[in-house]
Amino acid sequence: MSAFSRKLIIWHAHAGRHDLPWQQQPSPYRIWVSEIMLQQTRVPTVLRYYPRFIERFADLASLAAASEHEVLALWSGLGYYARARNLHACARHLCQHHGGEFPRTAAALATLPGIGRSTAAAIAAFAFGERAAILDGNVKRILCRCFAVEGFPGEKTTEQHLWQLAESLLPAPMDATPQAMAAYTQAQMDLGATLCTRTRPDCPRCPLVDDCRARADDRVQELPAPRPKKTTPLRHAALALVRDMDGRILLLQRPATGIWGGLYSLPECQCLPAALARTLPAHAAARLQHAFTHFRLTLEVFALMLPQTAPLSLRGADGLAPQHWLAPEELANAPLPAPIRRILATLVTANR
Ligand code: SF4
Repeated sequence: MSAFSRKLIIWHAHAGRHDLPWQQQPSPYRIWVSEIMLQQTRVPTVLRYYPRFIERFADLASLAAASEHEVLALWSGLGYYARARNLHACARHLCQHHGGEFPRTAAALATLPGIGRSTAAAIAAFAFGERAAILDGNVKRILCRCFAVEGFPGEKTTEQHLWQLAESLLPAPMDATPQAMAAYTQAQMDLGATLCTRTRPDCPRCPLVDDCRARADDRVQELPAPRPKKTTPLRHAALALVRDMDGRILLLQRPATGIWGGLYSLPECQCLPAALARTLPAHAAARLQHAFTHFRLTLEVFALMLPQTAPLSLRGADGLAPQHWLAPEELANAPLPAPIRRILATLVTANR
């Protein structure tokens, strides 16, 4: 076994996490849901969503039978909503074409919707004991530091190099029992989340400290190399909080692809009928900035009361979107993006 994997497995036995909900009564389904939720999301956040999701969708069949609306509503606030749509599509695909069973290898898992190479390897290691390398953000950071890997890890050649490194560090085949693979895989995740953190890593407690090149060369703060600087574009959207005389709020379902795909959002002011748009107040009732991966969005929300009953004829692309008039008490279970939920929590509560 490589010294790297041996040290991690020994460390994990006494310092790793053993009480996560998906580690209790583990099944391929429960492991898969957790791995999808954990993509780009930290454990403490996932812990707020996972139990409720599993309670409602206990297995592949119940998830496959659910409506997309309900899946998105339970995902609401967790972000990266393509994950929820892929999860749902994957459940339906497995029920229709695989008899409701997960394939048992990382290579086959990686062909399913929403399951990339690293996620496939994690599921295969945890659920089936496969000897497969993972390379999530935590592992990239550990490898870049431990082996002084130069270059931004998201860049293609650096990433290829990291994959080779990750493969070379796996426990040797004769040592790679299912238990060892589960422990080794979890150890890498735990080390990155608890000790080898992005800022202020706790090197003195790290099992790899004696071999770590970044630590020896005093380059811990330099590695991994940051994303090359690009100015993040700033976009702006003016949204309308339209309420009817019963206090219900107009929400539009967004297109299935793109930002907040499939979720409910407020209509853009430019989609309102001209006569109604003229009644918009001069000042926004709320203003909020939200960072997406590739741009920042400033949202301004203008509130108005509709002097008529729904429905409303909207212009432009949003005019084709399904309209939903929700009472304030229905918002909690609606599939809303986090920034829209925050805005509504402020404005709707304030105006009740
Ligand atoms: S010694 Fe420090 S920098 Fe190196 S792997 Fe451990 S925690 Fe990370």
